[in-house]
Parts: sequence; C-alpha cells; structure tokens
Amino acid sequence: METKKNNEINERVIEENFREILDKGLNLDLNDPNFKETPSRVARAYKEIFTGLGHTKEDVEKIFKTCFPTDYKGMVFEKNIIVFSMCPHHFLPVRYEVSVGYIPDGCGVGLSKLVRIIELLAKRPVLQETFTQEIVELMKKYMHTKGAICMVRGEHYCMQIRGVKQKDVVTTTSAANGVFLTQSEMELKFYESMRNS
Ligand SMILES: [Zn+2]
Repeated sequence: METKKNNEINERVIEENFREILDKGLNLDLNDPNFKETPSRVARAYKEIFTGLGHTKEDVEKIFKTCFPTDYKGMVFEKNIIVFSMCPHHFLPVRYEVSVGYIPDGCGVGLSKLVRIIELLAKRPVLQETFTQEIVELMKKYMHTKGAICMVRGEHYCMQIRGVKQKDVVTTTSAANGVFLTQSEMELKFYESMRNS
C-alpha cells in the first residue's frame, strides 16, 4: 500500500474545515448543543476511520514478521472477515465481507495477522478493486505462499442512500496470484469452500 510521505492525519485541519461545512455550507447553528462539538468529533472519528493512512511499510512487515513452520499442503481458508471502509468518491461507508485463501509454502501466519492487515487496508478511502488487489499482493509479498486468492463483497452506502438508491446491491470483486492463477482446480476449490462453509 503506497502512502504519502507525511501521512499524519491533521485533526485540527479537519475540525476547522468541517466547522466551515456545517456553518457556511449547510447553514447550521453551531450554538446548537448537537452541533457544537461535532467538528472535533468528526476529526476524531476520521482519525479512527482512516487509521490505515498512518501506516508504513515497516508496520506491515512487523505484522507479518512471525512465521510458523508447517508441512500443511492444503488451502488455508478464512471466510467473512467483516471490515468497514470509506469510498474514495463520496466519503460514505462501505461494509466489506472478505474471504481469503492461501497455500502455505512451508510457513503459516497467525490468522489474526491476516485480519489485521485486511483491516489496515480497509481503513483508508480506497476503491474496492484496489483494496481487493492489494490484499493478495501483500499476501504474496510478505507471506511464504504458493498462491493467494481473495473475494470481496461490498455494500456501498453511496449506492444505497444517494444516486441509484439500490439498497440490496452487492459489489463483488476477486483477485488471485500463484497457483490460484495457474491451476484452475485450486481456484475452484476456493469457490467450493466459499459455498460449503
Ligand atoms: Zn461512492
């Protein structure tokens, strides 16, 4: 995941500008107790929602550092990891269900590590396609695998509460590398596990 050099989230700038949005953009009364502290609340919320922006390559390496030796030759599969993100086009929430599979190559990672990485990647304003691709790329780069695959189902609130107002639309994306690309039976095995578990 590429991040800008200085990716510290500036809460003060968010707060000041959000105050402008409420005050001059939406003509709301900032003396109303409901809105008074809203700009600083939004700034704190953004800091939490976008915590993935403040992470560097070193942080990612640290998460993947420990490897557990294994002779396991099958697929490790995790289904329905739920994470929340924000769409980069409307800054509205997206709920993702992520399923991943990988074939270890002599080494496994703790399953919670995978969840942490996926959470980190989600906590940025990121396009679903990019998010999906980055998951398997990071797995390839930092884990000893013969291949990695992932499928993401996204519920985009920007499609539900505005625009086309389709509240049941689910956007599905997938990405794969290694044996999941070269051996179609491995890819089938992943989708079978998705159906049967
Ligand atoms: Zn959107």
